[in-house]
Amino acid sequence: MKQIALFEQGIHPTPIVEMSGDYGKNRYYIKREDMIPFSFGGNKARKAAEFYKEIKDCEADIVMTYGSNSSNHCRIIANMACAMGLACHIISPEENREMLYNTRLVEEFGAVIETCPVTKVSETIDRRVEAYRQEGKNPYFILGGGHGNPGTRACVNTYREIADYEEQTGICFDYIFHASGTGTTQAGLVSGKLLMEDRKRKNAQTVKEKKIVGISIARNEERGREVVRQSVEEYLGEKYQALYKEEELIFTDAYCMGGYGKYTQEVKQTIEEVMAKDGIPMDSTYVGKAFYGMKRYVEEHQICGKNILFVHTGGAPLYFDLLDKGQETERRQA
Ligand SMILES: *Cc1c(COP(=O)(O)O)cnc(C)c1O
Repeated sequence: MKQIALFEQGIHPTPIVEMSGDYGKNRYYIKREDMIPFSFGGNKARKAAEFYKEIKDCEADIVMTYGSNSSNHCRIIANMACAMGLACHIISPEENREMLYNTRLVEEFGAVIETCPVTKVSETIDRRVEAYRQEGKNPYFILGGGHGNPGTRACVNTYREIADYEEQTGICFDYIFHASGTGTTQAGLVSGKLLMEDRKRKNAQTVKEKKIVGISIARNEERGREVVRQSVEEYLGEKYQALYKEEELIFTDAYCMGGYGKYTQEVKQTIEEVMAKDGIPMDSTYVGKAFYGMKRYVEEHQICGKNILFVHTGGAPLYFDLLDKGQETERRQA
């Protein structure tokens, strides 16, 4: 089977395994979305597979998107465009130009990176799309982070895989935790849960209570929640009214630590512990920060004796940025 089949036929279910380290008074499982076999995996690879179909269907010749120098999404989209033989144009804020592994990879794939002040992003995108159209080209624009319905649909599949695992093993998760950024992953998980539980109820099957907790890595609660809710509404369409309930959406900004990319020494220690005890790399912007946030949430809500699933959403190149930073600090101290 060719690598491209991944996008055409869909992604194989990613592994769910119980963790070995001692992270609290519960059983901890992890879903390895980071092991999706394209461009270091992660939720952006899962989303990209859905965008792949759209790009093919509309016969685009340029793939455009937006993201920062640390963006996993930009890496995957640039890689996919390159693999498809299409041009790729990335708009990126000029405020942060540090060369990170993701930035280097995007360059490696031959993408054009256009920088502009973060306040001018939206007009720059509009102008560039228009300019390509004027040239007779057919650009396909993907929102930052792979936000939008195809991205949500991709993450509904993540939930479906979790439900299948529960069915096959008899292990039921009481909680699902994950890093929430643009909110698409959470929207997909929540939509998937609502749809599947609805089907179960209609078939007179019992539905066990389960909570999906999005740990915000940047956004405040009000805005974060609203974006997730909107995406759920957009995805569910006419079923939204009947299925959606406020309490299905748990989004906490309690572990934001001052915003995007910011983290504490405790986050770093947690990342080192998970790598040492479980051999699973986590980055400090998304996954490690959220895993640490989960540990705190579980303590603060006195959750014990439960089955907890943490969704590892990827970001491997950022793990190496963190390693490099550690070395720099050591060198400075030496
Ligand atoms: C983008 C990203 C997230 C956040 O996912 P959203 O769907 O944007 O909420 C989490 N983890 C990693 C590694 C990411 O790259």
